[in-house]
Order: sequence, then C-alpha cells, then structure tokens
Amino acid sequence: MKGNRDKMEEISLNKFKELTHHKRMKYTWKKADGTKIKEFETDKFYCNKIPGSLNMLSMPKFLLSADGKFYKDGEKFMHISEYGTTFFEVLPPEEVKSYDVQDVINAESTLEPIKCRHCKKVGNVVYHQDIGDAYCENCGKWQLGGREKE
Ligand SMILES: [Zn+2]
Repeated sequence: MKGNRDKMEEISLNKFKELTHHKRMKYTWKKADGTKIKEFETDKFYCNKIPGSLNMLSMPKFLLSADGKFYKDGEKFMHISEYGTTFFEVLPPEEVKSYDVQDVINAESTLEPIKCRHCKKVGNVVYHQDIGDAYCENCGKWQLGGREKE
C-alpha cells in the first residue's frame, strides 16, 4: 500500500473505530521515511482512548498517538502522527476449515468439523465409527448412505 494522502479521505477517530471494530486486521508502523518499524496482526481489532493523562489510543499489541489523523481508502486506513505513519488493512474473515467424511475415513480418526455433502452445512455432521459413515443432524442425511448401503 502506498499511502497517498491526496487520494485518501480523512475520517474521524469514531469513524475509524466503527469501520474496524472486531475485524481481522493487519497493521504496520512506519517511520516518516518509510522504514518499517513493526508489524502486527489480530483477529479481533479494537481502538480505544486510554483514559487519564496519556494522549494515546490502545489497540491490540500497539499504542497509537491520539493526536494524529486517520485517513481511509476502501478497506485500507492510515494514521499519521509525529511518531510516524501506521497503515491498517482489514483482512477477510478466516475461512473455517472443514472436512469431508472421506477425510475422516482416510485419517482413521475423528476430524472436526465435517461439512455435509448434501446441505453443505459445517459442524452438524457426526461420524459413527461402527457404521463407517457420518450423519448430518441438519438435513437428516447420511453422507455415504448409512445403513442403506449394507
Ligand atoms: Zn446436511
């Protein structure tokens, strides 16, 4: 991300908080000359004013000067203060990893969660070792036909 201030819209702290609250976020703190100082990533972002005398904003693993200004460009944000520039990027939510009944059979152990082959829902499928098949409690179907195949 370049961080071209001219192309970015200046936003308030409250707007920044609203647009980033509990999002997955990556942020990079750079010196004014562009040298990277630190990089952070969090699954649940927040930004709060620290009460009391410190004029700082609290966020996961990082403090930010409350005197700076926030800028916005789509899902990307920038904060400029006397301490440098911090770039924020909202990341897409982490994809839930799921397994197919065949993965469970191949692994010869229980893998969770299983995705239903029929209704595609994740997490409602229970593997039954005695049958060698998994049953979906959401749509009521066996993944491989259940007892019918015997
Ligand atoms: Zn199902």
